[in-house]
Amino acid sequence: MKTVLSTLCLVLFITTASAQNPTLREAIASDYQSHLGPLFDHWHRNPELSLVENKTAARLAKELRTTGFEVTEGVGGTGIVAIMKNGPGPMVMMRADMDGLPVEEKSGLSNSSTSTQKSPITGQMVPVMHACGHDVHITSLVGTARRMADMKTQWTGTLMLIGQPAEERVLGARMMMKDNLWKRFGKPDFALAFHVWSGGEAGKLAVSDGSPYAGADTVDIIVHGVGTHGASPHRGKDPVVLGSQIVLALQTLVARELPPRDPGVVTVGSFHAGSKHNIISDRAVLQITVRNTSLETRKLLLDGIKRIAENLGRAAGLPEDKLPEVNYFEGCPPTINDAKLAHRLRKMWTEKMGTDAIMDDAFVARHSKGMGAEDFPFFTTDPPIRSVYFSIGGTPKKDIDAEEAGGPKVPSHHSPLFKISPEPAVTSGIEATVLALLDLMQQ
Ligand SMILES: [Zn+2]
Ligand SMILES: [Zn+2]
Repeated sequence: MKTVLSTLCLVLFITTASAQNPTLREAIASDYQSHLGPLFDHWHRNPELSLVENKTAARLAKELRTTGFEVTEGVGGTGIVAIMKNGPGPMVMMRADMDGLPVEEKSGLSNSSTSTQKSPITGQMVPVMHACGHDVHITSLVGTARRMADMKTQWTGTLMLIGQPAEERVLGARMMMKDNLWKRFGKPDFALAFHVWSGGEAGKLAVSDGSPYAGADTVDIIVHGVGTHGASPHRGKDPVVLGSQIVLALQTLVARELPPRDPGVVTVGSFHAGSKHNIISDRAVLQITVRNTSLETRKLLLDGIKRIAENLGRAAGLPEDKLPEVNYFEGCPPTINDAKLAHRLRKMWTEKMGTDAIMDDAFVARHSKGMGAEDFPFFTTDPPIRSVYFSIGGTPKKDIDAEEAGGPKVPSHHSPLFKISPEPAVTSGIEATVLALLDLMQQ
């Protein structure tokens, strides 16, 4: 009896699991044809710059409100918070960023943007383009909202959807948090986000149990010297020499202190001092960017920069009140996936979307060697929230294969030639998100 029952349960389980997904996929596909496709088209033609995503936010709010969400606008600037309460259970957040970039679109697509907007930075009119694919994210967010509202009997808990401004300036998440996001709306138990990726095959998903985006920090070092005549160096303290020693010693942080398998970058991008051949100046300024993929590496590099700069100042004979001044500017922590949760979701996605829907790990590793940063971790680092950030490919397989075979390179994000195949990217983004939400908020 036990064997018969468990066989029956297994059959039932397989039937339910395989029946649920085609139904979900069909619903998303038909919603794309009638509603989401035209919505993507609208957003692609009408991108807006960071901090002035006014029309985008208004349309997103309207879409989510008509789907039955309780929507608050103007959170941390143009941010949107949409809540759907559906009984007891966890609160899960899904975030989509909304901003475009000051780039003139040259993709050749029929729905290319010809929009211009006054830049909040320069005050000049500039061309604007969704050159990073954030239009895919907001369209998917609307699609996710519509499916989750439709499938209310299949989940329990509170769903929080976030439309975030100014990701491209690494400002929006911070601004929403400063607007008391968790105090006003509740702190989620889990947080999710995805980015469309032009380097990956359209519609395929990639997820790692590590750090999909690096942390980025900015550091300035002001090297104080004692100015004097260039022909009498013994009468001063030369900040150019000390600054140069600091630049070289900083190279040892990554090369000699960081474990070889932990990635990190310390780049001195600018070094300014002096005004004339024969004057030893009294000041040099170094500007540094620091990248890392873990909080431990971040601390090691930032502490190391201060230690090296100050102690080289001591070695140069500077008094304690004239040591090099190290100033940190609030950067961005690394995006770190909760390894267990990433594992669990990956297994679930593989089962429900099929092995073919997941990108090959070796391919992803070959193509993700940069140290780009994201501001999503401002939501998830302090206080910590279990989170997973995944990617959805956006480029036709033939173009990816051609690049792999040494052919033309797929245009990268932020390029005027950037283009995404919206239908597979948006629909897979919705399917993966909805499946993850159902898994986290199962009854
Ligand atoms: Zn971007
Ligand atoms: Zn982006």
